[in-house]
Amino acid sequence: MDVAEVQDIVIVGGGICGLATALALHRKGIRSIVLERSETLRVTGAAIGIQSNGWRALDQLGVASKLRQTAIPIQRNLEARCLKRSTLLETLANDLPVGTIRFGSHIVSVQTDPITSQPILHLHDGSVVRAKVVIGCDGVNSVIVNYLGLKLPKQSPITNVRAFTNYPDGHGLEPEFVTIRKGNLLLGRIPIDDKLVYWFIARRETPQDLTISKDAQKIRCSTLESVKGFPREMVEMIEKCDVDSLTLNGTRYRAPWELLNPTFRKGTVTVAGDAMHVMGPFLGQGGSIALEDAVVLARCLAQGQRTSGINSTTSIESAIDEYVRQRRTRLVQISTKTYTLGSLLETSSMFVKLVCIVVMIVFYRDRLGHTRYDCGRL
Ligand SMILES: Cc1cc2nc3c(=O)[nH]c(=O)nc-3n(C[C@H](O)[C@H](O)[C@H](O)COP(=O)(O)OP(=O)(O)OC[C@H]3O[C@@H](n4cnc5c(N)ncnc54)[C@H](O)[C@@H]3O)c2cc1C
Repeated sequence: MDVAEVQDIVIVGGGICGLATALALHRKGIRSIVLERSETLRVTGAAIGIQSNGWRALDQLGVASKLRQTAIPIQRNLEARCLKRSTLLETLANDLPVGTIRFGSHIVSVQTDPITSQPILHLHDGSVVRAKVVIGCDGVNSVIVNYLGLKLPKQSPITNVRAFTNYPDGHGLEPEFVTIRKGNLLLGRIPIDDKLVYWFIARRETPQDLTISKDAQKIRCSTLESVKGFPREMVEMIEKCDVDSLTLNGTRYRAPWELLNPTFRKGTVTVAGDAMHVMGPFLGQGGSIALEDAVVLARCLAQGQRTSGINSTTSIESAIDEYVRQRRTRLVQISTKTYTLGSLLETSSMFVKLVCIVVMIVFYRDRLGHTRYDCGRL
């Protein structure tokens, strides 16, 4: 006997993209549910830099003014602020109708109903959800990407350490994003407010990373070891960091050419955020791009619904195709910029460096050009 629950729109994954998509749909009067495998909002990575394209999307979602109060501007011309990840996720979640997010809901597989052609989601606890639309916002190890028949993203040789440092008497730093590079190690520092500073280190992975990644004290010791010779205040910032916020993670990426052709749709199932287009952290744009996805996808689905209603499979499919069409050029452009920048930082080949420099000069002369993008009205 089939005891599956039936839903209109199911979003898999309650990270930045999943919550933003649910909120965008809610603002358009469309109900969805978010199935998140964790038991609470998952906030690994301490903080996130949001640049002006991301702020435009947050304006459309109706949460930008609340978030602006939590973080100081760190750039003069184009808006850029660094938000605590927990603040961003909680703000998105708090504006959703009660019951939208279901924690502890781990999707293990998806299949197509042979009669209706609609997706059927299987959860870890054996329960089943049938949906008219499924949006995979389930990050780099996406079950939905598997269902669409796409390759999972590649592992990059870059590892990141991220944390907060709290200065109870004020840090006294300028409101700016400072980076220092020595060899293959990049250290970045961004103030969030007058007392809290977010910092990260990007460096080549080492064989020890796997063993230390679960132990914050060991991450701190190895990080201090790697920044010997850096300015004193930077070393102190790492010494005094909030150990609970400290994380060490590898990174994944999808190469720009992998975004050129796929339909990113199978029936009424699609993907958004990192699941669709994870890119190296060299531009700090993955979160902002995920917010843009949410606005565009909700706008397209709402237009489709206005024309033919949520019950028309053809109209849902056309709406998803329109979403993919609107996103593809943007994604290929920004992913190429990230990829080129990453290759420039990572390669030891002079020839590759030269090619990257030429690409940057010819196509990306405007260093902040990608942040001027406007995903449009919701
Ligand atoms: C080191 C580093 C620094 C970065 N810095 C920045 C920055 O400064 N600015 C910026 O804009 N971006 C930055 N990014 C990128 C940004 O963090 C991501 O692009 C963004 O978090 C993607 O959001 P998402 O919702 O698509 O995926 P995720 O945040 O990965 O969320 C996916 C969610 O899906 C859930 N999930 C996964 N599988 C399942 C399943 N089977 N069933 C149910 N739930 C599931 C997960 O638990 C998770 O909550 C950075 C990334 C890295 C690695």
